[in-house]
Amino acid sequence: MNAPASLQDVRPDPHVAGPDLLAWPLLRTLIGFDTTSRDSNLGLIDWVRDYLARHGVDSTLTFDDDGRKANLFATVPARDGNRIAGGIVLSGHTDVVPVDGQAWDTPPFEAVHVGDKVYGRGVTDMKSFAATALAFVPEFLHRGLSRPVHIALSYDEEVGCVGVRRMIADVVQRGLQPQGCIVGEPTGMELVVAHKGKKSWRCRVRGHEAHSSLTPQGVNAVEIACEIVACLTNIARAFRDHGAQDADYDVPFTTVHTGIIRGGTALNIVPRDCWFDFEIRHLPLDDPDAFFAEVKAYAERFVPAMRKVAADAGIEFDHVSTLPGFDTHGESAIAALGKDCNRTHGYGKVSFGSEASLFHGAAIPTIICGPGHIAQAHQPNEWVSVDQLARCETFMRRLADRVCAA
Ligand SMILES: [Zn+2]
Repeated sequence: MNAPASLQDVRPDPHVAGPDLLAWPLLRTLIGFDTTSRDSNLGLIDWVRDYLARHGVDSTLTFDDDGRKANLFATVPARDGNRIAGGIVLSGHTDVVPVDGQAWDTPPFEAVHVGDKVYGRGVTDMKSFAATALAFVPEFLHRGLSRPVHIALSYDEEVGCVGVRRMIADVVQRGLQPQGCIVGEPTGMELVVAHKGKKSWRCRVRGHEAHSSLTPQGVNAVEIACEIVACLTNIARAFRDHGAQDADYDVPFTTVHTGIIRGGTALNIVPRDCWFDFEIRHLPLDDPDAFFAEVKAYAERFVPAMRKVAADAGIEFDHVSTLPGFDTHGESAIAALGKDCNRTHGYGKVSFGSEASLFHGAAIPTIICGPGHIAQAHQPNEWVSVDQLARCETFMRRLADRVCAA
């Protein structure tokens, strides 16, 4: 499916002057596609597929259930024809978070170069890495590769790393055996070898309505929900004060947090319903299921008293999402390559989740290294510094020197 002609027309001219970077025209093009997660990303995917096809590189697309979104996986083969073994995956997600309600000073779906920064939705999270990787494809081809380089672009990362799971399943099913993967999430171009896992749930408390002058005849769902939320807060404090610590993380312990709570209709009604969403972001060795079992057991102690008042009262939990953590301890071949390309010896760990753990879980050792900083992600006036883009380009150039045959 091709992007509609009208979309082509409104896209900004990629030849507009910008920073002196190989990836600038590509970055400008990628930012020009509004790939907010709720919408289709096929305009961008089709454009990239056509760009790669112009260089003789075929792409494999894997689609979501209704065909509105796709992952793109493309292999630049080694000079000896090897497409299977020992390759390096350069990975990024194509979707971006919404700009709804945010005050932007520049058009968000246009990469705008001002001084030492480039503004636009996705310049940090995370189209710059993809643009840089794509910009090097002609060089990979021209110089010839000693091993394959794979380009992996996913959909729906921002809504729970949904799309990449299909792409990875396809890669495994096709028998590809990459040596490692570099996920270009914003790390300030620092090498990251681990991130926390995340698991989230919705808790639904069903109480019983009554006039608020008759509270013993009701079951107050808001109050019971608050008891459970308070339990979560206590568990969070216990992780902080007595749990495992890993100083390589910005937040060195497992965190627990309640993000949304909704309940009640009027002050003079004992509320029947209340629900809240909570999550754990755990060190790879902490067990999110043990945490959940503790929360559930705590909640269940309220149920007998609730049921004495109303037989249909109760507490239910729905699992919302799971993203495993991963930790390579900096000891994989891809970490060594990353250090080499970055001219650094150290590495870090981050608290935000990414697709890295899913590649890692499919026996593809993975690191995270990309331009920009997570603090600028998801913000109005999202920006990346020209210096970070240049560092990404330098990284990719050193990578090219190591994967090219000559
Ligand atoms: Zn991202």
